[in-house]
Amino acid sequence: MIAVISDIHANLEALEATLADAKSQGVNKIVCLGDIVGYGADPNRCVERIHEVAAASVLGNHDAATLDERGAENFNAVARVAIQWTREQMSPENMEILRKTPLEYIADGALYVHASPEDPNLWNYVLTETDARAAFDCCDEFICFIGHSHVPVRLLLTNGSLEVVPDASLAVPQGARALVNVGSVGQPRDGDWRASYALFDPTTRQVTSRRVEYDCQAAAAKILAAGLPEVLARRLALGR
Ligand code: ZN
Repeated sequence: MIAVISDIHANLEALEATLADAKSQGVNKIVCLGDIVGYGADPNRCVERIHEVAAASVLGNHDAATLDERGAENFNAVARVAIQWTREQMSPENMEILRKTPLEYIADGALYVHASPEDPNLWNYVLTETDARAAFDCCDEFICFIGHSHVPVRLLLTNGSLEVVPDASLAVPQGARALVNVGSVGQPRDGDWRASYALFDPTTRQVTSRRVEYDCQAAAAKILAAGLPEVLARRLALGR
């Protein structure tokens, strides 16, 4: 069983709770879809923890903007402040880990990427049907896992017809393909404050979205103590 996690955003409390939940579900492989840092107060410890437990990790736009400040040019003011702070905190060893992180990972019949696979370096969101079809066109695997929007979504493409699967669990039929946004561990934005990630069994082609409670007051208190923008602390409990 594989755990696919994304958008940790330096929220160590959410990451540890997610890893504990994954362990309880019999997970023996962890894949991280990036944005390990940015917004939260524990960038170094989150990079170290992911490096320690994940079989593979791909780069997110906040990781890229930490490595190269030009990546933050399109960020809003709050995200830019957080990335500047993150860059000052990061150890050289952890910057090196991020620098070696690829944009894509292919294994288990899956393509793992942070944003749209159309051009992973452009960090495009998959929000519309057109975006989703373009994403499917750029993926040869039966399933593509993405993050980036912080909103979990499951899409199924069967004989050219595209549907949104509302259930938390989905078995991809033979001949069909899926695009799964696993949501965000450290800063969910779908109105549910709990950490979001997905379980994936490549043999049964089953994907299950999971939500995990964590100590979001502790994560918020650390953000305030670090002097990061207050809104980043407040939003955790709102899931926005
Ligand atoms: Zn993100």
